Amino acid sequence: MTAAPLLPAARPHAQHAVRIGDVLFGGAAVPVIAGPCAVEPGYPEQVPHVAAAGASVLRGCVHKPRTRPDTFQGLGAEGYPLLDAARAATGLPVISEPLEVGDVERLGPHCDAFLIGARSMQNTPLLREVGRQLHPVVLKRGLSATYDEWLGAAEYVLAGGNDQVILCERGIRTFETATRNTLDVAAVPVLRERTGLPVIVDPSHAAGQRAWVAPLALAAVAAGADGLIIECHPDPDASWSDAAQAISPEQLRAIVDAVEFLSSATRSPALGSLSDCREGIDQVDAAIARLLERRAALVAAAQEHKPHPAGRDAEREARIARRVAARAPRLGAVGAEAVMQAIITTCLAASEASKLEAALAG
Ligand code: PEP
Ligand code: MN
Repeated sequence: MTAAPLLPAARPHAQHAVRIGDVLFGGAAVPVIAGPCAVEPGYPEQVPHVAAAGASVLRGCVHKPRTRPDTFQGLGAEGYPLLDAARAATGLPVISEPLEVGDVERLGPHCDAFLIGARSMQNTPLLREVGRQLHPVVLKRGLSATYDEWLGAAEYVLAGGNDQVILCERGIRTFETATRNTLDVAAVPVLRERTGLPVIVDPSHAAGQRAWVAPLALAAVAAGADGLIIECHPDPDASWSDAAQAISPEQLRAIVDAVEFLSSATRSPALGSLSDCREGIDQVDAAIARLLERRAALVAAAQEHKPHPAGRDAEREARIARRVAARAPRLGAVGAEAVMQAIITTCLAASEASKLEAALAG
């Protein structure tokens, strides 16, 4: 029996992929947008760390919709040159939030996509204005908006002629107060099915606490999210805005790696062209590489528990090859055995080499 696809690529509505710069949302890969909550004076020096951690697009918000007026409201137009500097420093596209209609034209040349924040989801003049632009629009779900209200807001953008719309779930208001908002993971499969628009998730504003960002991010990708937007700062506690939910570049790297792995294991790759197939193969190879690293580390740890000198256990190796052959029938018994023998031998050799290295260093 062949398993049914977990996250089918073909939808009742054709998937409508959207590009921010040259980063595709709604394709095989699951890109991560990241950066500090607000652009700070040190932004151009901060973003290379975020880029190095695997972000594909930078958050670059200079107009900030803050809950209280006595908190940092963003650098405003003074921050625009910092967006230019960030783009130049990293080569990555930047997404930024216009708060009012007049911001759209001023901000446009300094960013590659517009973010419409949760509080602005029903600001219809703003929606109409970004609907007239060429920049893609990431439309966040309002604080207590239903799917229909959210899609109604998307219609305002689409009606203006801008079909480059990405929906972003960021948590909704519920009776729970432990998290900042309650992440509605169901929004991902429901809206991907109902609209064909890419659906991304912001685990940061849902969690409100950095320790919960990674689990929510992975839940979103497991549910089929087409991307993530995450608040990341090289010195999270020093963030000028939303410090409690800011993660470090190291934590971002772990999420990006896990997302790559998870998406290659669950999403149905496109098979329509040679380049589609090759993209899928590259993703699977990246996942295999991560698993091989993990296997090699386990083999090295296992050696510590064996009597010395540890001989090879031919019976166990044959059992492993049989188990893999059963799970990978396309390889055939002979092929599976050859692959596993190579892996087993290589992992053992790597553990010997690392032991030798440690002995030489010690
Ligand atoms: C943001 O992403 O900058 C933000 C303010 O989040 P939200 O609009 O989801 O509250
Ligand atoms: Mn924030």
